[in-house]
Amino acid sequence: MSATYYDAVMSDKTTQLIHHPYQPPAGFLAPQPGIFKASTVIFPNVAAMHTREWRNKSGYTYGLHGTPTTFTLEERLCALEGGLQCVLASSGLSAIALVNMALLKTGDEVLIPDNVYGPSKALAEGELVAWGISHQLYEAMSPADLANRISSKTRLVWLEAPGSVTMEFPDLLEMLHICHARGMICALDNTWGAGLAFNAFDMAGESVDISVQALTKYPSGGGDVLMGSIITRDEALHLRIKGTHMRMGVGVGANDAETVLRSLPSMALRYAAHDCSARALAGWFQSRPEIAQVRHPALEGSPGHAHWKTVCGTGQAAGLFSVVFHERFSVPQVEHFCDSLRLFKLGYSWGGPVSLVVPYNVASMRGSAWPHKGVLVRFSTGLEAVADLQADLAQALDML
Ligand SMILES: *Cc1c(COP(=O)(O)O)cnc(C)c1O
Repeated sequence: MSATYYDAVMSDKTTQLIHHPYQPPAGFLAPQPGIFKASTVIFPNVAAMHTREWRNKSGYTYGLHGTPTTFTLEERLCALEGGLQCVLASSGLSAIALVNMALLKTGDEVLIPDNVYGPSKALAEGELVAWGISHQLYEAMSPADLANRISSKTRLVWLEAPGSVTMEFPDLLEMLHICHARGMICALDNTWGAGLAFNAFDMAGESVDISVQALTKYPSGGGDVLMGSIITRDEALHLRIKGTHMRMGVGVGANDAETVLRSLPSMALRYAAHDCSARALAGWFQSRPEIAQVRHPALEGSPGHAHWKTVCGTGQAAGLFSVVFHERFSVPQVEHFCDSLRLFKLGYSWGGPVSLVVPYNVASMRGSAWPHKGVLVRFSTGLEAVADLQADLAQALDML
Protein backbone atom coordinates (compact mmCIF):
# COMPACT_ATOMS: atom_id res chain seq x y z
CA MET A 1 0.00 0.00 0.00
CA SER A 2 1.32 3.45 -0.84
CA ALA A 3 1.82 6.19 1.72
CA THR A 4 -0.82 8.29 0.00
CA TYR A 5 -3.38 5.50 0.47
CA TYR A 6 -2.75 5.56 4.20
CA ASP A 7 -2.81 9.36 4.30
CA ALA A 8 -6.20 9.29 2.63
CA VAL A 9 -7.89 6.72 4.85
CA MET A 10 -6.08 7.27 8.15
CA SER A 11 -6.58 10.90 9.03
CA ASP A 12 -7.13 10.04 12.69
CA LYS A 13 -4.44 8.86 15.16
CA THR A 14 -6.74 6.14 16.51
CA THR A 15 -7.00 4.60 13.06
CA GLN A 16 -3.25 4.97 12.54
CA LEU A 17 -2.55 3.11 15.76
CA ILE A 18 -4.76 0.23 14.69
CA HIS A 19 -3.77 0.05 11.01
CA HIS A 20 -0.13 1.15 11.28
CA PRO A 21 1.67 0.00 8.11
CA TYR A 22 4.99 -0.91 9.75
CA GLN A 23 5.92 -4.57 9.41
CA PRO A 24 9.00 -5.81 11.28
CA PRO A 25 11.54 -7.55 9.02
CA ALA A 26 10.92 -11.25 8.42
CA GLY A 27 13.52 -13.80 9.39
CA PHE A 28 13.59 -13.34 13.16
CA LEU A 29 14.98 -16.53 14.64
CA ALA A 30 15.35 -17.33 18.32
CA PRO A 31 15.45 -20.54 20.37
CA GLN A 32 11.84 -20.13 21.41
CA PRO A 33 9.06 -19.76 18.81
CA GLY A 34 7.00 -16.58 19.03
CA ILE A 35 3.57 -16.45 20.60
CA PHE A 36 0.74 -15.79 18.16
CA LYS A 37 -2.55 -14.74 19.69
CA ALA A 38 -5.79 -14.57 17.77
CA SER A 39 -9.46 -15.04 17.80
CA THR A 40 -9.71 -13.19 14.47
CA VAL A 41 -7.41 -14.13 11.61
CA ILE A 42 -7.25 -11.60 8.74
CA PHE A 43 -7.63 -12.70 5.10
CA PRO A 44 -6.21 -10.79 2.11
CA ASN A 45 -9.42 -11.17 0.07
CA VAL A 46 -12.80 -12.92 0.00
CA ALA A 47 -11.51 -15.73 -2.19
CA ALA A 48 -8.95 -16.63 0.51
CA MET A 49 -11.72 -16.48 3.08
CA HIS A 50 -13.70 -19.05 1.12
CA THR A 51 -10.90 -21.41 0.19
CA ARG A 52 -8.47 -21.43 3.06
CA GLU A 53 -8.04 -24.86 4.67
CA TRP A 54 -7.11 -25.29 8.33
CA ARG A 55 -7.65 -29.03 8.73
CA ASN A 56 -4.33 -29.91 7.11
CA LYS A 57 -2.53 -26.94 8.69
CA SER A 58 -2.06 -25.25 5.29
CA GLY A 59 -3.72 -22.04 6.45
CA TYR A 60 -5.26 -20.03 9.26
CA THR A 61 -8.97 -19.21 9.47
CA TYR A 62 -9.85 -18.58 13.11
CA GLY A 63 -8.07 -18.71 16.44
CA LEU A 64 -9.98 -21.83 17.52
CA HIS A 65 -8.82 -23.66 14.38
CA GLY A 66 -5.14 -23.05 15.00
CA THR A 67 -2.38 -20.47 15.12
CA PRO A 68 1.36 -20.78 14.37
CA THR A 69 1.83 -21.38 18.11
CA THR A 70 -0.69 -24.20 18.43
CA PHE A 71 0.33 -25.80 15.11
CA THR A 72 3.95 -25.81 16.30
CA LEU A 73 3.02 -27.39 19.62
CA GLU A 74 0.87 -30.01 17.87
CA GLU A 75 3.73 -30.99 15.55
CA ARG A 76 6.23 -31.29 18.41
CA LEU A 77 3.83 -33.44 20.40
CA CYS A 78 3.43 -35.70 17.36
CA ALA A 79 7.22 -36.05 17.31
CA LEU A 80 7.21 -36.85 21.04
CA GLU A 81 4.60 -39.58 20.72
CA GLY A 82 5.31 -40.93 17.25
CA GLY A 83 1.92 -39.79 15.97
CA LEU A 84 0.91 -37.96 12.81
CA GLN A 85 -1.92 -35.66 13.91
CA CYS A 86 -2.65 -33.85 17.15
CA VAL A 87 -5.60 -31.99 18.60
CA LEU A 88 -5.10 -29.78 21.66
CA ALA A 89 -7.72 -29.57 24.40
CA SER A 90 -8.09 -27.30 27.38
CA SER A 91 -7.19 -30.04 29.90
CA GLY A 92 -6.38 -33.73 29.97
CA LEU A 93 -9.94 -34.44 31.03
CA SER A 94 -11.37 -32.38 28.18
CA ALA A 95 -9.19 -34.38 25.76
CA ILE A 96 -10.72 -37.60 27.15
CA ALA A 97 -14.22 -36.09 26.87
CA LEU A 98 -13.60 -35.03 23.27
CA VAL A 99 -12.58 -38.54 22.24
CA ASN A 100 -15.77 -39.91 23.81
CA MET A 101 -17.93 -37.25 22.16
CA ALA A 102 -16.34 -37.71 18.76
CA LEU A 103 -16.63 -41.49 18.68
CA LEU A 104 -19.73 -42.42 20.69
CA LYS A 105 -23.44 -41.89 20.08
CA THR A 106 -26.66 -43.01 21.79
CA GLY A 107 -26.83 -46.81 21.98
CA ASP A 108 -23.05 -47.29 21.90
CA GLU A 109 -20.95 -48.69 24.72
CA VAL A 110 -17.46 -47.78 25.89
CA LEU A 111 -15.18 -50.02 27.96
CA ILE A 112 -13.09 -48.47 30.71
CA PRO A 113 -10.53 -50.11 33.00
CA ASP A 114 -11.60 -50.46 36.63
CA ASN A 115 -8.49 -48.57 37.81
CA VAL A 116 -9.08 -45.66 35.41
CA TYR A 117 -8.34 -42.01 36.21
CA GLY A 118 -11.33 -41.18 38.44
CA PRO A 119 -12.84 -38.20 36.58
CA SER A 120 -12.88 -40.27 33.36
CA LYS A 121 -15.16 -42.78 35.11
CA ALA A 122 -17.27 -39.93 36.52
CA LEU A 123 -17.74 -38.60 32.98
CA ALA A 124 -19.02 -42.01 31.85
CA GLU A 125 -21.38 -42.23 34.84
CA GLY A 126 -22.61 -38.67 34.37
CA GLU A 127 -22.78 -37.27 30.85
CA LEU A 128 -22.34 -40.48 28.84
CA VAL A 129 -25.15 -42.29 30.70
CA ALA A 130 -27.38 -39.21 30.30
CA TRP A 131 -26.73 -39.28 26.54
CA GLY A 132 -27.71 -42.96 26.30
CA ILE A 133 -24.11 -44.19 26.01
CA SER A 134 -23.43 -47.11 28.31
CA HIS A 135 -20.09 -48.15 29.79
CA GLN A 136 -18.62 -51.19 31.47
CA LEU A 137 -15.63 -51.32 33.76
CA TYR A 138 -13.32 -54.21 32.86
CA GLU A 139 -10.67 -55.69 35.12
CA ALA A 140 -7.57 -53.76 34.11
CA MET A 141 -5.30 -56.75 34.71
CA SER A 142 -7.47 -59.29 32.86
CA PRO A 143 -7.40 -59.30 29.05
CA ALA A 144 -9.92 -62.18 29.23
CA ASP A 145 -12.37 -60.01 31.16
CA LEU A 146 -11.95 -57.24 28.59
CA ALA A 147 -12.54 -59.73 25.76
CA ASN A 148 -15.73 -61.00 27.44
CA ARG A 149 -17.17 -57.52 27.70
CA ILE A 150 -16.78 -56.56 24.04
CA SER A 151 -20.21 -56.71 22.37
CA SER A 152 -21.89 -55.51 19.19
CA LYS A 153 -22.53 -52.22 21.03
CA THR A 154 -18.88 -51.58 21.93
CA ARG A 155 -17.33 -48.76 19.93
CA LEU A 156 -14.39 -47.63 22.01
CA VAL A 157 -12.00 -49.21 24.51
CA TRP A 158 -10.00 -47.07 26.92
CA LEU A 159 -6.64 -48.26 28.20
CA GLU A 160 -4.46 -46.75 30.88
CA ALA A 161 -0.94 -47.81 31.82
CA PRO A 162 -0.47 -47.99 34.73
CA GLY A 163 -3.65 -47.20 36.68
CA SER A 164 -2.98 -43.71 37.96
CA VAL A 165 -3.58 -44.36 41.67
CA THR A 166 -3.13 -48.10 42.15
CA MET A 167 -0.27 -48.40 39.61
CA GLU A 168 -1.06 -51.81 38.03
CA PHE A 169 0.61 -52.07 34.61
CA PRO A 170 -1.77 -53.96 32.29
CA ASP A 171 -0.96 -56.37 29.46
CA LEU A 172 -1.30 -53.65 26.80
CA LEU A 173 -0.07 -55.86 23.97
CA GLU A 174 -2.60 -58.61 24.62
CA MET A 175 -5.46 -56.16 25.12
CA LEU A 176 -4.65 -54.28 21.91
CA HIS A 177 -4.44 -57.58 20.08
CA ILE A 178 -7.87 -58.65 21.38
CA CYS A 179 -9.50 -55.30 20.63
CA HIS A 180 -8.09 -54.94 17.13
CA ALA A 181 -9.08 -58.50 16.23
CA ARG A 182 -12.65 -57.41 17.10
CA GLY A 183 -12.39 -54.13 15.17
CA MET A 184 -12.40 -51.89 18.24
CA ILE A 185 -10.87 -48.42 18.43
CA CYS A 186 -8.41 -48.29 21.34
CA ALA A 187 -7.62 -45.04 23.12
CA LEU A 188 -4.82 -44.94 25.66
CA ASP A 189 -4.54 -42.43 28.48
CA ASN A 190 -0.80 -41.99 28.00
CA THR A 191 -0.22 -39.36 30.67
CA TRP A 192 2.10 -41.60 32.69
CA GLY A 193 4.20 -42.76 29.71
CA ALA A 194 4.19 -39.20 28.34
CA GLY A 195 5.65 -40.41 25.04
CA LEU A 196 8.93 -41.23 26.80
CA ALA A 197 8.55 -44.53 28.68
CA PHE A 198 7.22 -46.30 25.57
CA ASN A 199 5.98 -45.54 22.08
CA ALA A 200 2.21 -46.01 22.11
CA PHE A 201 2.11 -46.25 18.32
CA ASP A 202 4.81 -48.90 18.07
CA MET A 203 4.81 -51.51 20.83
CA ALA A 204 6.13 -54.83 19.57
CA GLY A 205 3.87 -54.72 16.52
CA GLU A 206 0.84 -53.35 18.37
CA SER A 207 -0.33 -49.75 18.29
CA VAL A 208 -3.00 -47.75 19.99
CA ASP A 209 -5.37 -45.82 17.73
CA ILE A 210 -5.48 -42.76 19.93
CA SER A 211 -3.07 -41.52 22.58
CA VAL A 212 -4.39 -38.94 25.02
CA GLN A 213 -2.12 -37.06 27.39
CA ALA A 214 -2.68 -34.60 30.17
CA LEU A 215 -0.03 -32.09 29.07
CA THR A 216 -0.78 -30.66 32.50
CA LYS A 217 1.73 -33.17 33.89
CA TYR A 218 5.24 -33.67 32.45
CA PRO A 219 4.97 -31.67 29.19
CA SER A 220 4.04 -28.58 31.22
CA GLY A 221 6.32 -29.55 34.06
CA GLY A 222 5.44 -26.54 36.16
CA GLY A 223 2.16 -27.36 37.86
CA ASP A 224 0.86 -24.21 36.23
CA VAL A 225 -0.81 -25.13 32.93
CA LEU A 226 -3.90 -27.20 32.17
CA MET A 227 -3.89 -28.75 28.70
CA GLY A 228 -4.49 -32.03 26.92
CA SER A 229 -3.55 -33.63 23.62
CA ILE A 230 -5.15 -36.24 21.37
CA ILE A 231 -2.66 -37.88 19.03
CA THR A 232 -3.52 -40.24 16.17
CA ARG A 233 -1.93 -41.78 13.09
CA ASP A 234 -5.10 -42.36 11.07
CA GLU A 235 -6.25 -39.33 9.07
CA ALA A 236 -9.96 -40.27 9.06
CA LEU A 237 -9.98 -40.86 12.81
CA HIS A 238 -8.18 -37.57 13.37
CA LEU A 239 -10.71 -35.69 11.25
CA ARG A 240 -13.61 -37.14 13.25
CA ILE A 241 -12.00 -35.87 16.46
CA LYS A 242 -10.94 -32.58 14.90
CA GLY A 243 -14.50 -32.00 13.66
CA THR A 244 -15.94 -32.48 17.15
CA HIS A 245 -13.13 -30.34 18.57
CA MET A 246 -14.12 -27.50 16.22
CA ARG A 247 -17.87 -27.83 16.78
CA MET A 248 -17.46 -27.98 20.56
CA GLY A 249 -15.33 -24.85 20.41
CA VAL A 250 -12.40 -26.22 22.38
CA GLY A 251 -9.42 -23.87 22.42
CA VAL A 252 -6.16 -23.42 24.31
CA GLY A 253 -4.57 -20.14 25.31
CA ALA A 254 -1.52 -18.99 23.34
CA ASN A 255 0.49 -18.28 26.48
CA ASP A 256 -0.25 -21.73 27.82
CA ALA A 257 0.77 -23.31 24.50
CA GLU A 258 4.01 -21.30 24.63
CA THR A 259 4.68 -22.45 28.20
CA VAL A 260 4.42 -26.07 27.11
CA LEU A 261 6.63 -25.38 24.06
CA ARG A 262 9.24 -23.94 26.40
CA SER A 263 9.08 -26.97 28.70
CA LEU A 264 9.23 -29.71 26.07
CA PRO A 265 13.01 -29.55 25.44
CA SER A 266 13.75 -30.35 29.10
CA MET A 267 11.04 -32.94 29.44
CA ALA A 268 13.16 -36.07 28.95
CA LEU A 269 15.69 -34.81 31.50
CA ARG A 270 12.98 -34.00 34.00
CA TYR A 271 11.20 -37.31 33.43
CA ALA A 272 14.43 -39.20 34.11
CA ALA A 273 15.03 -37.19 37.29
CA HIS A 274 11.47 -37.75 38.58
CA ASP A 275 11.88 -41.45 37.76
CA CYS A 276 15.20 -41.73 39.59
CA SER A 277 13.85 -40.16 42.80
CA ALA A 278 10.61 -42.14 42.73
CA ARG A 279 12.49 -45.40 42.42
CA ALA A 280 14.89 -44.53 45.21
CA LEU A 281 12.02 -43.64 47.54
CA ALA A 282 9.87 -46.60 46.51
CA GLY A 283 12.82 -48.91 47.24
CA TRP A 284 13.36 -47.24 50.61
CA PHE A 285 9.67 -47.66 51.52
CA GLN A 286 9.98 -51.40 50.84
CA SER A 287 12.27 -51.70 53.85
CA ARG A 288 9.92 -49.81 56.17
CA PRO A 289 7.86 -51.89 58.63
CA GLU A 290 4.89 -49.47 58.45
CA ILE A 291 4.29 -50.35 54.79
CA ALA A 292 2.50 -53.49 53.61
CA GLN A 293 3.09 -52.96 49.89
CA VAL A 294 4.87 -50.56 47.53
CA ARG A 295 3.31 -50.23 44.09
CA HIS A 296 5.60 -49.01 41.31
CA PRO A 297 5.61 -50.85 37.98
CA ALA A 298 9.42 -51.03 37.84
CA LEU A 299 9.59 -52.80 41.21
CA GLU A 300 9.83 -56.57 41.21
CA GLY A 301 6.55 -57.96 42.58
CA SER A 302 4.48 -54.88 41.82
CA PRO A 303 1.31 -55.69 39.83
CA GLY A 304 2.09 -55.89 36.12
CA HIS A 305 5.86 -55.56 36.56
CA ALA A 306 6.45 -58.09 33.75
CA HIS A 307 4.19 -56.11 31.37
CA TRP A 308 6.04 -52.90 32.24
CA LYS A 309 9.32 -54.64 31.40
CA THR A 310 8.00 -55.79 28.01
CA VAL A 311 6.40 -52.52 26.98
CA CYS A 312 8.88 -50.04 28.49
CA GLY A 313 11.93 -51.45 26.78
CA THR A 314 14.00 -48.41 27.74
CA GLY A 315 13.35 -49.22 31.39
CA GLN A 316 11.80 -45.84 32.13
CA ALA A 317 8.93 -44.96 34.45
CA ALA A 318 7.24 -41.81 35.63
CA GLY A 319 7.86 -40.37 39.11
CA LEU A 320 4.75 -41.88 40.65
CA PHE A 321 4.28 -44.66 43.17
CA SER A 322 1.84 -45.69 45.85
CA VAL A 323 2.28 -47.36 49.20
CA VAL A 324 -0.29 -49.35 51.12
CA PHE A 325 0.07 -48.83 54.85
CA HIS A 326 -0.08 -51.74 57.21
CA GLU A 327 -3.70 -52.30 58.23
CA ARG A 328 -2.83 -51.61 61.87
CA PHE A 329 -2.70 -47.91 60.92
CA SER A 330 -6.09 -46.21 60.89
CA VAL A 331 -7.26 -43.67 58.33
CA PRO A 332 -6.71 -40.76 60.79
CA GLN A 333 -3.17 -42.03 61.53
CA VAL A 334 -2.25 -42.16 57.83
CA GLU A 335 -3.84 -38.76 57.30
CA HIS A 336 -1.70 -37.47 60.17
CA PHE A 337 1.35 -38.90 58.37
CA CYS A 338 0.36 -36.95 55.23
CA ASP A 339 -0.24 -33.78 57.24
CA SER A 340 3.20 -34.18 58.86
CA LEU A 341 5.06 -34.09 55.54
CA ARG A 342 6.82 -30.80 54.89
CA LEU A 343 8.34 -31.09 51.42
CA PHE A 344 5.64 -33.35 49.97
CA LYS A 345 2.64 -31.06 49.58
CA LEU A 346 -0.98 -32.19 49.64
CA GLY A 347 -2.29 -31.65 46.15
CA TYR A 348 -3.73 -33.31 43.05
CA SER A 349 -1.96 -33.68 39.73
CA TRP A 350 1.77 -34.31 39.26
CA GLY A 351 4.69 -33.63 36.96
CA GLY A 352 5.87 -30.34 38.45
CA PRO A 353 8.92 -29.45 40.57
CA VAL A 354 7.09 -29.90 43.89
CA SER A 355 6.64 -33.39 45.35
CA LEU A 356 3.01 -34.21 46.06
CA VAL A 357 1.09 -36.67 48.19
CA VAL A 358 -2.56 -37.79 48.24
CA PRO A 359 -4.17 -40.41 50.50
CA TYR A 360 -6.87 -42.42 48.70
CA ASN A 361 -9.74 -44.51 49.98
CA VAL A 362 -9.35 -47.12 47.26
CA ALA A 363 -11.93 -49.50 48.74
CA SER A 364 -14.64 -46.89 48.11
CA MET A 365 -13.34 -46.35 44.55
CA ARG A 366 -12.96 -50.00 43.60
CA GLY A 367 -15.34 -51.88 45.87
CA SER A 368 -14.71 -55.48 46.84
CA ALA A 369 -12.19 -55.97 43.99
CA TRP A 370 -9.61 -54.16 46.12
CA PRO A 371 -8.04 -56.72 48.49
CA HIS A 372 -6.11 -54.40 50.81
CA LYS A 373 -7.33 -53.17 54.19
CA GLY A 374 -4.59 -50.59 54.71
CA VAL A 375 -4.79 -47.02 53.46
CA LEU A 376 -3.14 -46.23 50.11
CA VAL A 377 -1.05 -43.10 49.71
CA ARG A 378 0.11 -41.94 46.28
CA PHE A 379 3.36 -40.01 45.92
CA SER A 380 4.55 -37.94 43.01
CA THR A 381 8.20 -37.02 43.21
CA GLY A 382 9.16 -33.50 42.24
CA LEU A 383 12.66 -32.28 41.51
CA GLU A 384 13.88 -31.77 45.09
CA ALA A 385 17.04 -33.60 46.26
CA VAL A 386 16.09 -37.19 46.98
CA ALA A 387 17.92 -37.24 50.34
CA ASP A 388 15.74 -34.36 51.54
CA LEU A 389 12.58 -36.11 50.34
CA GLN A 390 13.58 -39.32 52.11
CA ALA A 391 14.30 -37.42 55.35
CA ASP A 392 10.88 -35.81 55.06
CA LEU A 393 9.18 -39.20 54.67
CA ALA A 394 11.17 -40.61 57.60
CA GLN A 395 10.24 -37.79 59.98
CA ALA A 396 6.55 -38.12 59.01
CA LEU A 397 6.63 -41.90 59.54
CA ASP A 398 8.07 -41.25 63.01
CA MET A 399 4.93 -39.22 63.77
CA LEU A 400 2.72 -42.26 63.24
C1 LIG B 1 -4.15 -35.57 35.38
C2 LIG B 1 -4.65 -36.68 34.56
C3 LIG B 1 -5.68 -36.49 33.64
C4 LIG B 1 -6.44 -35.18 33.50
O1 LIG B 1 -5.65 -34.09 33.25
P1 LIG B 1 -6.20 -32.63 33.62
O2 LIG B 1 -5.39 -31.74 32.72
O3 LIG B 1 -5.95 -32.42 35.06
O4 LIG B 1 -7.65 -32.58 33.27
C5 LIG B 1 -6.08 -37.56 32.89
N1 LIG B 1 -5.49 -38.76 33.03
C6 LIG B 1 -4.51 -38.98 33.89
C7 LIG B 1 -3.90 -40.34 33.99
C8 LIG B 1 -4.05 -37.96 34.69
O5 LIG B 1 -3.07 -38.18 35.57
